[in-house]
Amino acid sequence: MSISHPRHVAVIGAGIVGLAVAERLVAEGHRVTVLAPDPPGSDRCASYGNGAFISPASVLPLSAPGLWRRVPAMLLDPAGPVSIRLRDLPRLAPWLLAFLRAGSRPDRVARIAQALRLLLHDAPARHAALSARAGAADLIRATGLLYAFRDRAAFEAERAGWRLRAECGVAWRACEGAELRALAPDLSPACRFAILVTGGAWCADPGGYLAALARFLGAAGAEVRCDRVEAIGISGGQLRGLSCAGGFLACDAAVIAAGIASAPLAAQAGDRVPLAAERGYHVEIADAPVSLAVPIMPQDGKMANVSIRGALRAAGQVEIAAPEAPPNWARAEVLLSHLERTYPVLSGRSHDLRRWMGCRPSLPDGKPVIGRASGCAAVIHAFGHGHVGLASAPATAEIVADLLAGRPPARDPAPFSPRRFRRFSARQKSDACPTQIRQLPGPRKDRP
Ligand SMILES: Cc1cc2nc3c(=O)[nH]c(=O)nc-3n(C[C@H](O)[C@H](O)[C@H](O)COP(=O)(O)OP(=O)(O)OC[C@H]3O[C@@H](n4cnc5c(N)ncnc54)[C@H](O)[C@@H]3O)c2cc1C
Repeated sequence: MSISHPRHVAVIGAGIVGLAVAERLVAEGHRVTVLAPDPPGSDRCASYGNGAFISPASVLPLSAPGLWRRVPAMLLDPAGPVSIRLRDLPRLAPWLLAFLRAGSRPDRVARIAQALRLLLHDAPARHAALSARAGAADLIRATGLLYAFRDRAAFEAERAGWRLRAECGVAWRACEGAELRALAPDLSPACRFAILVTGGAWCADPGGYLAALARFLGAAGAEVRCDRVEAIGISGGQLRGLSCAGGFLACDAAVIAAGIASAPLAAQAGDRVPLAAERGYHVEIADAPVSLAVPIMPQDGKMANVSIRGALRAAGQVEIAAPEAPPNWARAEVLLSHLERTYPVLSGRSHDLRRWMGCRPSLPDGKPVIGRASGCAAVIHAFGHGHVGLASAPATAEIVADLLAGRPPARDPAPFSPRRFRRFSARQKSDACPTQIRQLPGPRKDRP
């Protein structure tokens, strides 16, 4: 179906993916309604609390050859960067097996990396342009990004991953000695080596960016509506509209960009996909005596350290668990003690702290689902961006706009097809691919 002349498109979700999609569609002349139960920029979505990295280097999936050997340790280690909530293990086991399989061989990892490259290679430039159109150019900073190691030997242990990144066109170089100290004066002297991803960028206020995009959309004629989509009305393969908590919305096309809540909607449109929550945490020190001109990802903790609105944020941890399970704030404490080790000036002080938990919407192969729904050509999927949703939102928006216009997409959407899970979903019971829309409990921060 082509809707190359302006039609009414409903975008379900006001995280970074939904808002980037809405912006593209408004620019192409569509009438757009964005629907989300919370105001854009609220802390109830993953796009609010993330690590703010817009990194072309984020092409490697979390799953890697040999990872299965570390699963017992993940189940037992409360302080490790990756953990699995024991109680959820039976329900999540099929997802976990598919996840381990996706990264079990170097050729599989390389294919995923090449696919993610399609979405990430120009992400900093795309965000610079998007933020400028939204009047928020100051929020995207193209300073490069530092990946810090204890020493060169620690880097050499991860050399294969960096070689693959280079094969994907990512520009990086070593940074040590006086240059590293100048870029990161507060970094512990125990970190003696870093990789500088020269083309990397970051967002100085992810929540503020969402709010700015929503304001821009409103001014450009889109409607951003506080409402919750409960069902997609499809009959005879035709989209009739959306059933929302606030009533029925007639529309000609719909884009599912509801983050972790997308799977039941996608199932209504004919695609059962194994979406799971890789829950992540952040801790922010509001009054930190450390301000990072260039964000840092210490490789021993696999967490993003970034200065957001005057606070020092550490965002990371992967907790594979049911999205609605209560947060385990011990994970935020792990981030805090890592921060204190990484920046010695922080230790021995009391901090004004904020803690947050959110759900990365993740498919087992680390790639999002972008493409037309199997059960209705007027419904487009744009969800499941896992660890790279901030960075890959503008490229996702371009693909969605191409599909809605009936143009051959400039970026090949084949690796992101919703149909790649058909065999997996056919084998699973409904638990792994929920069709019921569940309301997530909120707010998931430790204080107002
Ligand atoms: C700790 C952490 C660190 C991260 N670091 C990075 C990073 O450095 N760089 C990066 O690129 N990515 C990072 N990510 C991943 C990134 O944040 C996510 O991939 C991205 O935010 C997903 O965006 P989204 O719009 O798909 O989902 P969300 O931001 O979760 O938004 C979903 C939207 O859908 C709405 N919604 C839900 N249900 C319904 C419904 N029924 N009807 C209508 N609307 C609905 C929600 O209210 C919300 O508005 C990180 C994630 C975490 C948790």
